[in-house]
Amino acid sequence: MASSGQKVVLITGCSSGIGLRIAVLLARDEKKGYHVIATMRDLRKKDKLVEAAGNCYGKTLTLLPLDVCSDESVKKCIDSVKDRHVDILINNAGIGLLGPLESISMEEMKRVFETNFFGVVRMIKEVMPDMKKRRSGHIVVMSSVMGLQGVVFNDVYTASKFAMEGFCESLAVQLLKFNVNLSMIEPGPVHTEFETKMMDDVSKMEYPGTDAETVRYFKDVYLPSSIDIFEAMGQTPQDIARCTKKIIE
Ligand code: NDP
Repeated sequence: MASSGQKVVLITGCSSGIGLRIAVLLARDEKKGYHVIATMRDLRKKDKLVEAAGNCYGKTLTLLPLDVCSDESVKKCIDSVKDRHVDILINNAGIGLLGPLESISMEEMKRVFETNFFGVVRMIKEVMPDMKKRRSGHIVVMSSVMGLQGVVFNDVYTASKFAMEGFCESLAVQLLKFNVNLSMIEPGPVHTEFETKMMDDVSKMEYPGTDAETVRYFKDVYLPSSIDIFEAMGQTPQDIARCTKKIIE
């Protein structure tokens, strides 16, 4: 339970990668004294976070279930922390989707938008009224460099991040009047399970109906150069966690 004066930070998608690192970094900052509510959709995946949090777990870091794709789960989670007020919301949960449009089902595309776009909208809608009422708060959204630039075979993921950029740019102006900040972070490549999953997707990728020139470009130009970029410029989840911490301070 947060004590008075402690800032309550709620983070989505803390089972791995960037979310896990943000949760641990903030929970360990004794000077700032954050109270972190780390959330994940499947609590059976909590071990990595619990281990990384060490003796912060159960003190400055508590854990709650939260699936950003479910209205019910989001409402239940925010209701359960209402008397503590969320001072800072970090929308980190996200999924990727790589492949030619012809090989991707509508269901898969909708799942990406449900998570990366509507997941963020759902969270913001639930915490915003209280932040506006208290005229205080900070909402952070984990976008991507792909929220600014389209990339071959990343059509749907890119679109979901572009949509979020537009949504946030518009909303940020309205929230400022209530002294509520809305910030976006646009990381380039980060070494997380996201990257592992992407490489796995590539190895299984099929190209039905895709023209030979696009397939050749993807395999011979795009893929080798993205691997090089990952190796040369890839950041760690800790780097993004430090950047997030700076933004909220
Ligand atoms: P990870 O795959 O390591 O983490 C993604 C997290 O989101 C996991 O905890 C996952 O949970 C969670 N998640 C997925 N769907 C849901 C859901 N419906 N409800 C709640 N949580 C969910 O990837 P990253 O740490 O790299 O990604 C974090 C964010 O950073 C994403 O928004 C991503 O788009 C963004 N990003 C990542 C980059 C990269 O190169 N890695 C670059 C730019 C942006 P579960 O374990 O249950 O699947």
